[in-house]
Amino acid sequence: MHNENQPLIFELTREGRVGYNLEPLDVEDYDLADLLPQGYVREEAAELPEVSELDIMRHYTALSRRNHGVDSGFYPLGSCTMKYNPKVNEAVARYAGFASVHPLQDEDTVQGAMELLYDLQTSLVEITGMDEVTLQPAAGAHGEWTALMMIRAFHEANGEGHRNKVIVPDSAHGTNPASATVAGYDTITVKSNEDGLVDLEDLKRVLGDDTAALMLTNPNTLGLFEENILEMAALVHEVGGKVYYDGANLNAVMAKARPGDMGFDCVHLNLHKTFTGPHGGGGPGSGPVGVKKELIPFLPKPVLVKTEEGRFHFDYNRPQSIGRVKPYYGNFGINVRAYTYIRSMGPDGLKAVTEYAVLNANYMMRRLEEHYDLPFNRHCKHEFVLSGRRQKKLGVRTLDIAKRLLDFGYHPPTVYFPLNVEESIMIEPTETESKETLDAFCDAMIQIAKEAQETPEKVQDAPHTTVVTRLDETRAARNPVLRYVKPTVETVEA
Ligand SMILES: *Cc1c(COP(=O)(O)O)cnc(C)c1O
Repeated sequence: MHNENQPLIFELTREGRVGYNLEPLDVEDYDLADLLPQGYVREEAAELPEVSELDIMRHYTALSRRNHGVDSGFYPLGSCTMKYNPKVNEAVARYAGFASVHPLQDEDTVQGAMELLYDLQTSLVEITGMDEVTLQPAAGAHGEWTALMMIRAFHEANGEGHRNKVIVPDSAHGTNPASATVAGYDTITVKSNEDGLVDLEDLKRVLGDDTAALMLTNPNTLGLFEENILEMAALVHEVGGKVYYDGANLNAVMAKARPGDMGFDCVHLNLHKTFTGPHGGGGPGSGPVGVKKELIPFLPKPVLVKTEEGRFHFDYNRPQSIGRVKPYYGNFGINVRAYTYIRSMGPDGLKAVTEYAVLNANYMMRRLEEHYDLPFNRHCKHEFVLSGRRQKKLGVRTLDIAKRLLDFGYHPPTVYFPLNVEESIMIEPTETESKETLDAFCDAMIQIAKEAQETPEKVQDAPHTTVVTRLDETRAARNPVLRYVKPTVETVEA
């Protein structure tokens, strides 16, 4: 895969070699120093590689091959839904009518784009069972925070601004307590019981008139469907709190069950997971929030509405709104992809997504349960959590197993999360993978379990085939070397 002998681009430099000659500038002369603040203008030319177009192409192509993506291999990263993003979404997002509109254009000139967004909202209202949806938030965590700010505004409007506690189970996604904290709340953790579900007694213990909300990740980070949702929602409502559904992993329940029918007041979705927006590398994402009637007045403004004449309009006249949470109206391109996906799948397709996501996870869980510990041995949803504690006794840690998987060409699963499982390995196959791929990955996991018994050093020293092997992770984080450093006499000798 990687050519060790490929020279670094700076070392290919030959003075005067160029890839492409730009035509001389034919606009009036101007002085850069007049345009840029003092001190920003170079006095000498930058020291850039002088190479041909072919050299630079090979350089970037080689770098790109060092990446692992869903288009290059299986990527069972738990809680991330690294599934295949159909290319038809890309084609549609590139239509000039979508790709070339400007967010500051007059509404009358972008009615089609606004209609698409409105139809997407309407679809998400139906999928979640909520009353209204905003597309503004740019990611899941951003959606969580947006919803909590709305809950805060709701309580304040009711003269209950004293409610300062958000309850988060220990099996929630890590962003939940973080969002609650950023929204200014104190987070209270409730424990899981031996089945891996929220402990109702512990929940009752912490509920009170200071409860602002309960945030529930469902399925939880163990991949388990919370069985007592109706009861939990009723308990929280009884004390005047709101119930929040973390729906980032909707491919576990989509078109089968709806948060809006289970007593939830608000929900966020991750369009860059369930609805095939490409993700990773920091976005752009889309984390729409759906709310029930009581929370509608607090939606971020503007709110995209359809007028009686059938015109689409951004409504800023929302006196109780929490305000804007994102420039313009969300990440338009991702929303176009999600809309394309929903329309090309149709209701039966979305139902099949859920069925295959759950089937694939259960299939792998059952193939691997003999070889790894399965702390919660129950029917799972879209993902499941193994424990590497059996291997740990042999001197092989979960981190080693993850590194060894790289040799087989796989992106490792999520490891050491969730925190409530020792040496956890969290596998999410997604619905888009074939049985052959799932089997091949299980075969690799089984082989690694055997190696842990027979030749543990093979796992402990992995990976053996990648460009870099084990990094000193502390040094890599504290003193990262992120750009080319020209070798000096000292560094060459060292
Ligand atoms: C991914 C995820 C989030 C966070 O979403 P981001 O877009 O990464 O902010 C929240 N909750 C759950 C359950 C998730 O899987």
